Amino acid sequence: MKRTISILGSTGSIGRQTLEVAEACGHRVAALTVKGSVELAEEQARKFRPELVAAVDERAAADLRVRLADTPTRVAGGEQALLEAAVLPRADTVVTAVVGIAGLRPTLAAIDAGKRIALANKETLVCAGELVMARAREKGADIVPVDSEHSAIFQCLQGCRDRGEVRRLIITASGGPFFGKGREELAQGTREQALRHPNWSMGAKITIDSATLMNKGLEFIEAMRLYAMPPEKISVVVHRESIIHSLVEFVDGAVLAQLGTADMRLPIQYALTWPERTAGPATPLDLLRCPPLTFAAPDPEAFPCLALALECARKGGTSTAILNGANEAAVALFLNDKVKFLDIPRLVAGALDRVEARTGDYGLEDVFEADRAARAAVSDLMR
Ligand code: NAD
Ligand code: MG
Repeated sequence: MKRTISILGSTGSIGRQTLEVAEACGHRVAALTVKGSVELAEEQARKFRPELVAAVDERAAADLRVRLADTPTRVAGGEQALLEAAVLPRADTVVTAVVGIAGLRPTLAAIDAGKRIALANKETLVCAGELVMARAREKGADIVPVDSEHSAIFQCLQGCRDRGEVRRLIITASGGPFFGKGREELAQGTREQALRHPNWSMGAKITIDSATLMNKGLEFIEAMRLYAMPPEKISVVVHRESIIHSLVEFVDGAVLAQLGTADMRLPIQYALTWPERTAGPATPLDLLRCPPLTFAAPDPEAFPCLALALECARKGGTSTAILNGANEAAVALFLNDKVKFLDIPRLVAGALDRVEARTGDYGLEDVFEADRAARAAVSDLMR
């Protein structure tokens, strides 16, 4: 199974690992998109010879045009270029590996163009999951998860013909670098500590989300949307070793799990080759070298972001877009040393208090409005 892929966010953690999979497995690359990292983009373009390289930053695009002038690759710039890459006719699959709500419009464009979506960008489903899944159903586009937990659930659900047979989805959480710490210690949590994830090497935003456990909250909502499951049928369990990537419990009591090393190349590859499996570059699991597998309940008091996300998951509508927008803004402030670690849940809770969510009938513009209002509320709270 050889695919032709466009990668949105090719210079990031998922983007680079996708290119490793493409190289190892012989998938072709049609388009690459980046925000600003021109050197790496040039290197990738020279190696993979895509038809198009898109840079959302116009200056980066101008620079890349000069750097790639001697190659057949076309360079496009601006937000529009991201959409162009998402619908490039030659690609059959779009890997959405940009971070944040920036992935929403290009994902919808790729769905409209009938592409398979290998979905890493969870914020898209958190903000507008109901709309995106409805659009995918309407267009007959497959959305295959890249997020390791959702890929694990997806793999466990292969062969399940009736979703009524599922009693519960169980999402595992590593617990992040601050697991076991109380609020006093967390109040002193620094950027460097928060960026030191015990098991996974990922982009900065998701690494902070893992430290606050917001990542697990976002993944809870992502799972609801991907698998059309009500919140009461999803639970979260802390599993420090990140070997079991998630589980599905069926009505007869059987529990299926997917195990593996902490190597994103496997879920990335499966999102490309599903329903087939092929040999690939992922590090194999050696059970005899595994540490004992442990399980614990998350601590909602120390990690209020998880509770905030579950509250929004139950409420639905645009509340999850408010949650996400406020969190993106708060994490950016934390990464710029403007706020402390526990200000992240404080700012998110504040935005959720101030911005009214629309439930029932809502559309894409309501989602973007909720995102804008949440970011504005965070700015106000900083005054
Ligand atoms: P990253 O920060 O390493 O990379 C982000 C990529 O997107 C870069 O190529 C960057 O140039 C581009 N980008 C950033 N902002 C952009 C914008 N506004 N418009 C267009 N392009 C932009 O991030 P990552 O860790 O690779 O994560 C990407 C997505 O995948 C996130 O949604 C994350 O939650 C999800 N995810 C990541 C992992 C992981 O292991 N890294 C695992 C599961 C899910
Ligand atoms: Mg994950």
